[in-house]
Amino acid sequence: MRGVLSAGLIGLVALSASAAPVFAQNSERYDIPAETRQTAQGLSQTALESDLALDIVTSLTTEVGPRLAGTPQEARAREWGVAKLRELGFENVRVEEFPLDLWTRGHSIYEEVAITAPFPQPLYAISLGGAAATPEAGLEAEVVFYANFDDFEQDAATNVRGKLVFINDRMVASRTGAGYGPANRKRRMGWVIAEDRGAAGVLIRSVGTDTNRFAHTGMVSFPDDRRPNVPILAVSAPDADLIERIAERGETMKIKLKTYAGWRGEVTSGNVIGEIVGREHPEEIVVIGGHLDSWDNGTGALDDGAGVAITMAAAKLIGDLPHHPRRTIRVVLFGAEEVGLVGARAYAIARMADGTVRDHVLGSESDFGAREIWQFSTKVNEAALPAMDAIGRELAVLGILRGDNDSGGGPDMIPLDYMGVPMASLAQNGEDYFDFHHTPNDTVDKIVPEEMAQNVAAWAMMTYLAAELDVDWRQPMEGEQAQPSQ
Ligand SMILES: [Zn+2]
Repeated sequence: MRGVLSAGLIGLVALSASAAPVFAQNSERYDIPAETRQTAQGLSQTALESDLALDIVTSLTTEVGPRLAGTPQEARAREWGVAKLRELGFENVRVEEFPLDLWTRGHSIYEEVAITAPFPQPLYAISLGGAAATPEAGLEAEVVFYANFDDFEQDAATNVRGKLVFINDRMVASRTGAGYGPANRKRRMGWVIAEDRGAAGVLIRSVGTDTNRFAHTGMVSFPDDRRPNVPILAVSAPDADLIERIAERGETMKIKLKTYAGWRGEVTSGNVIGEIVGREHPEEIVVIGGHLDSWDNGTGALDDGAGVAITMAAAKLIGDLPHHPRRTIRVVLFGAEEVGLVGARAYAIARMADGTVRDHVLGSESDFGAREIWQFSTKVNEAALPAMDAIGRELAVLGILRGDNDSGGGPDMIPLDYMGVPMASLAQNGEDYFDFHHTPNDTVDKIVPEEMAQNVAAWAMMTYLAAELDVDWRQPMEGEQAQPSQ
């Protein structure tokens, strides 16, 4: 289906992206040295003809499969990561472990959820990460229906004590994934309000854009480290429609649940690291990567086996060059992202401790599937912008627009971004990402090989040039002047 799109990929991207271009505009122009440009273009060509990323994500999803943070499955993924990085010729391959509070579903991924009145029938639902279990015998209660999160938040008058709160709120699909944040409020915060009002549990419409009869899981938020004492579940979109229709009929609705979720104590997780060591400034690091953990209900092919594979493949192609770039490229396969960026925080804290935060000259993560990249954004010092614009001109050949200079770098880059490390993003087309996100249908067959190859080409070019060009991307230290691009 999407093979059709990939055939005319570059033309289509250029066409669909022409509506509102945002350019980083700079007066002075930077030109990449001819030989370096040639090397970058050669990397891109090699990447477009390579199946390496697809091979890597196929290996991960076949030989490991689901890998919930803190479980033995995630530990197997780390072993896989170490073996794969070594096989691909990375140096300094290692695991950095960190402690993690384990949450699991505690039972099958198919939990028992059914409408018992007025029209008894089963529902397809799944516990959200962090949720509590029902009492052993299960829980049956009346349902209070809310069309959206705002309605629920504002309605302090309705008595929901001992009842099940249902929040509907549909998510809007878009290329940027901008619908996720607003639709996700009910998943993150619904339980807090419901629990404060004495509700027995919370059900939400899955945060997703599909119409399939399976539910999307995902973590809830823990404001002030508070943890839920009630069950919290997402139901499939068709089942949310059913609940909506029953609510419209005005009769008392009851749902019965039986779930086993809960916290299981402290375990070990870890980040897997491999490097292409820089030839001139090995201590300066361009850090790229994805997250190795996934949700338990799918195989984490799009989220985020794809990001792991794209960045590993791009770095491997750079490592195969006759000369390594000036600076080190560090690939980090982050652990425990889904459960709250635990690996990303551990990585950043370890760099604070060893004093190497400032050595990170650029950071970027791939964590939005494997569809084609359409935009390149950065967050670097002003004086370095012309050089980033020059990288943008190289990426344009792949159908990629130059974006702004306010990039966040990706979820696992948040702590480093916060510490002032320069960032770059290669934004993927996410229009159907949330059809699959956190569902059993996140499997490797969803990846279109040509689109993934375009990702690797873009990552290889960007990463190589960021590590090779003699330009400092960092904000100047206090009292220092930013060095203009040379
Ligand atoms: Zn992810």
